[in-house]
Amino acid sequence: MRMVDVAIVGGGPAGMSAALWCADLGLDTLLIERSVGLGGQLANIFNPITNYLGATAANGDELRARFLDSIRDSKFERRMETHVTNIDPASMSIHLGDGSETKSKAIVLATGVRRRRLDIPGENEFRGKGILESGARDRQLTLGKRVMIVGGGDAAMENALLLSEFATEVLVAFRRKEPTARSEFVESARGRNNIRLLSDTVVTTISGNAKIESAELKNIRDDHTSREAVDAVLIRIGVEPNSELLDGKVELDERRYVVVNGLAETDLPGIFAVGDVANPIAPRSTRPPEPERPPRSRRSATLRRSELDPTDRLHRCP
Ligand SMILES: Cc1cc2nc3c(=O)[nH]c(=O)nc-3n(C[C@H](O)[C@H](O)[C@H](O)COP(=O)(O)OP(=O)(O)OC[C@H]3O[C@@H](n4cnc5c(N)ncnc54)[C@H](O)[C@@H]3O)c2cc1C
Repeated sequence: MRMVDVAIVGGGPAGMSAALWCADLGLDTLLIERSVGLGGQLANIFNPITNYLGATAANGDELRARFLDSIRDSKFERRMETHVTNIDPASMSIHLGDGSETKSKAIVLATGVRRRRLDIPGENEFRGKGILESGARDRQLTLGKRVMIVGGGDAAMENALLLSEFATEVLVAFRRKEPTARSEFVESARGRNNIRLLSDTVVTTISGNAKIESAELKNIRDDHTSREAVDAVLIRIGVEPNSELLDGKVELDERRYVVVNGLAETDLPGIFAVGDVANPIAPRSTRPPEPERPPRSRRSATLRRSELDPTDRLHRCP
């Protein structure tokens, strides 16, 4: 069985950065990534990245290319397309999807976050047939169409503003009485005559044939159900951490993010967590592409810690 000094699970920015440092320190380092390429969420950023000190980029791919350049000559082993299925802290072993096992003196979890799902009928079936992955990337597809956005946070509202420039109508369904997005986004949305905000509303089914034709809605106050004809659906209901590998083994917070100290240590010696999986308040502020930017107030210029709800406000980028 292979034995290394450090095994890093996840090849996003945090995992790459950890691998670079460990290799630099002369440690025998193994980086394990389930996807075909490194970069993690960078593959899903289709708008300019303007808040990374020293490196603006047109999109995630461009920043990813720079990161790859930085680690090109770094001497750590990479195992791509390899899913880590279990971590056993007692034996410090890492179980891989192909049935093999690796042992390590230290384990770094860098598995990031994933978008939350609705888990309703149609959500899987219409992926690629009307479910939009990104408002920024897919906006031309909504030209002259009716779009349903699910969620009431910044990501939902920012996408509504963006897509209202292309779609004939944008419906925004959210389960609360009021959207939780920052007020200037909500005010801008209310000022557009082709954006309709549907409060107290959940989407229960996405229907159609070859592509999306409608969404079924339920008002959670009076249980009234209705159907809206729509061509596309964008789901922005927040993110959740990929922390299952350490669930029940180290301390997680109430939202299942890994709890770490300032040294990225969990409460188990030798087990570390870095990046989004251990950082429920990591801000993801970026500038959406044209068209017009909603007006910024002084209040929005600084994200107040109390406003940060990672399930809704962060990962708001279109
Ligand atoms: C649309 C969008 C726009 C954004 N804009 C900005 C921005 O402008 N500025 C900014 O600072 N941030 C932005 N972010 C956030 C930024 O991309 C993340 O903060 C960053 O990618 C987090 O890096 P990470 O390495 O912690 O996790 P991730 O990037 O999520 O990487 C985790 C990696 O772990 C892998 N993995 C997960 N589980 C396993 C497993 N069991 N086995 C093997 N591998 C596994 C995944 O495949 C993935 O490659 C944006 C994100 C999105 C989605």
